[in-house]
Amino acid sequence: MTEKSGRTRDGRAHGTAGAPGAGTGAGCDVVVVGGGAAGLSAALVLGRARLRTLVVDAGEPRNAPSSHLQGYLSRDGMSPAAFLAAGREEIAGYGVELLAGRVTDVTRDGTAAGTGTGDTGFTVLLDGGRTVRARRLIVATGLEDELPAVPGVAERFGRDVLHCPFCHGWEVRDQPFGVLASSAMSAHQALMVSRWSKDVTFFLHTVAEEELSGQDLRRLAAAGVGVVSGEVAGLVVEDDRLTGVRLADGSVHARSVLYVGPRPVPRTGLLERLGAELSETPFGAYPVVDPTGLTSVPGVWAAGNAVGFAEQVVHAASGGYRAAAAVVGDLLMTDLDAATAG
Ligand SMILES: Cc1cc2nc3c(=O)[nH]c(=O)nc-3n(C[C@H](O)[C@H](O)[C@H](O)COP(=O)(O)OP(=O)(O)OC[C@H]3O[C@@H](n4cnc5c(N)ncnc54)[C@H](O)[C@@H]3O)c2cc1C
Repeated sequence: MTEKSGRTRDGRAHGTAGAPGAGTGAGCDVVVVGGGAAGLSAALVLGRARLRTLVVDAGEPRNAPSSHLQGYLSRDGMSPAAFLAAGREEIAGYGVELLAGRVTDVTRDGTAAGTGTGDTGFTVLLDGGRTVRARRLIVATGLEDELPAVPGVAERFGRDVLHCPFCHGWEVRDQPFGVLASSAMSAHQALMVSRWSKDVTFFLHTVAEEELSGQDLRRLAAAGVGVVSGEVAGLVVEDDRLTGVRLADGSVHARSVLYVGPRPVPRTGLLERLGAELSETPFGAYPVVDPTGLTSVPGVWAAGNAVGFAEQVVHAASGGYRAAAAVVGDLLMTDLDAATAG
């Protein structure tokens, strides 16, 4: 399915001058893999710089479970779907084509499609078997949240099972919070959420109290966070609302919000295929990038949650912008050098 209705800002129909014409199988200047905040922001900058740009998006943005997006100045409270719809409309206005689908593979070519510059390009394989050639790539594929395997957590994630008080803190302020020990940062999370409620219980779940540092214990006590030992077996839900946390011993702790620490799994498969250098962190392996998002593979940039788990929407959009601006300069200089080469 191709979304390309409407006209560009200067009245041109999409798919004509300045548009990638990817629907016809032609090459384009840049393929942006992923159409979340990072990818769409990159596409906006590329489109405005008159580059033939194709965004391929599998349509699974990380914040899809949430009905609202917070903390993005001027967009606070907007629905994630409305945010993306606005972004898609903006990029269409500059002739950028958005294709709903998945990039399944990328290979590096010897020469760029139809440029005559001699610099290398990429062949991008889409699900369904189609290929598109591009001179540059921006990988904005985001990450997946691997949730703790406690029954009920996945079903309620983004509603009253939450991961980030900056995304969902104000909205649930002063309610009885639980925090499930599920990552190395869980004690930190229990401390952080005490900014939004003075009624916080830290469920140690599979962690022994002795595993917490003396400093964590002192801080938890100072913040008034209760610490409860014992494995969490499930959630109590009434009228489609979280009302409690059930331990394996059968006891129930009344809580209306549960914070968890999902394991971030960055979508780095395409970058790995291209041989990009990755760096291990406690929150997954991310590509090594320069300040513009350039990876160790020439011609390949990355942005958003594909480069770091803590990238919020505003950061992802900013990273996409930075990567796109660098791509614009890189293509221009490459062409100028080719034109002046003896
Ligand atoms: C429940 C929840 C609530 C959140 N709330 C907030 C909030 O209120 N405020 C905030 O700032 N942040 C929030 N976040 C974080 C926010 O989701 C991320 O900051 C943001 O989504 C990062 O944008 P991105 O473009 O890097 O990735 P994404 O938005 O995840 O977009 C990546 C896109 O790439 C696509 N993709 C992946 N692989 C491929 C492929 N091979 N081919 C084609 N397409 C592909 C995906 O389908 C997806 O559409 C929340 C996160 C969660 C989990």
